Amino acid sequence: MSYVDEVYDRVVKQNPGEAEFHQAVKEVLDSLRLVIDANEEKYRKMGLLERVVEPERIISFRVPWVDDQGNVQVNKGYRVQFNSAIGPYKGGLRLHPSVNQGILKFLGFEQVFKNSLTGLPIGGGKGGSNFDPKGKSDREVMAFCQSFMTELSKYIGADQDVPAGDIGVGAREIGFLYGQYKRLTGLYEGVLTGKGLNYGGSLVRTQATGYGLVYILDEMLKHNGKDLKGKSVVISGSGNVAIYAAEKAEQLGAVVVALSDSSGYIYDKDGINLDLVKEIKEVRRGRIKEYTDVVKTAVFTEGKGIWTIPCDIALPCATQNELDLEDAKTLKKNGCFAVAEGANMPSTREATDFFLDNEMYFMPGKAANAGGVATSALEMSQNSQRLSWTFEEVDEKLHQIMVNIYQKAADAAERYGVKGNYVAGANIAGFEKVVDAMMAQGIV
Ligand code: GLU
Repeated sequence: MSYVDEVYDRVVKQNPGEAEFHQAVKEVLDSLRLVIDANEEKYRKMGLLERVVEPERIISFRVPWVDDQGNVQVNKGYRVQFNSAIGPYKGGLRLHPSVNQGILKFLGFEQVFKNSLTGLPIGGGKGGSNFDPKGKSDREVMAFCQSFMTELSKYIGADQDVPAGDIGVGAREIGFLYGQYKRLTGLYEGVLTGKGLNYGGSLVRTQATGYGLVYILDEMLKHNGKDLKGKSVVISGSGNVAIYAAEKAEQLGAVVVALSDSSGYIYDKDGINLDLVKEIKEVRRGRIKEYTDVVKTAVFTEGKGIWTIPCDIALPCATQNELDLEDAKTLKKNGCFAVAEGANMPSTREATDFFLDNEMYFMPGKAANAGGVATSALEMSQNSQRLSWTFEEVDEKLHQIMVNIYQKAADAAERYGVKGNYVAGANIAGFEKVVDAMMAQGIV
């Protein structure tokens, strides 16, 4: 049995019931076969793959808090500190009822390679809780965040582990978490990113994942003789990533015709009015359906099914495994020629293989959504310097980082004889840097 298969079998056996983690490991290991086979003896001797797939540390803890009715609620809290070979652990906190240890291990594993691809000195981590912020009052969210941080604060720090937002964690939650960290430790340091602009946050961080997604999409299209002008785009989700991907896509001349949330999707053939979506989602914290109360010509459809809308380009920006083989086939049949992932692992393995086998331009999340964490790293730099850069400065850096990521993924794919396969390219390029650092640092 090859080293890759041995390690994958071991992951399945030793991490029972963690399907998403198995899926993420398999996708990475499969595309690394060429690299690993060429170095098998050396890597085996160093137990390299066994170490790559094992988080350095997982912290799990109880999060008790009191709701508005005076009842005690108890949630599970986690931080997966996956790999610190190239820098302090870095990655978001997710608050969603679907969160469990397996989901966070998959996300932490992906984060290691994504962060490496940015070219910045950040290791990989992820955390969160099964707490559901939906329908909670501001006071309840604050009570939860304070309790969560009371435990988490023991394990994080500006040079140790720097969490940020993810699903369910935005500016409000980061503010509450930061306030509690400062209160407990007495330290005013860059321990979280995605902070408010008046207390150490960075310009462009809010827009970064969405903008970065469209920058790399544009780069991929350009290199293949295409562009965004006049193209119709379907984007799933209506959170931070989706909204700012839509904004940048529109700025570059595309027409965004659909967005969604967990209850269904809206279709507006004239192009989505983003100011209205921002008002619904960022101010009112409402449902996407409310869009049709104002734009009468737009249509709301309950449930999944957003990928049945004909489009040139699809940007899945909601959550893992939201786009399956059937969806991929429907997209292709309706003329879609490019897909870039704003969410983490939104396409199933079968869907990804279909895109690759059918020569669609496909940019995986690890490369495509790295703009968020890259800008977090820029926030860390500004905090360390005690300086704030202008919007234009940060945006220019973000753009350059995304162009570089495209180049790294494209070059690695070409080097290993799979030109145009950005899945393999991103995995290989991300892996090389982490592995070189791990090999240099000995058995740790
Ligand atoms: N949650 C984002 C991601 O999946 C951002 C993480 C960060 O900024 O640290 O990459």
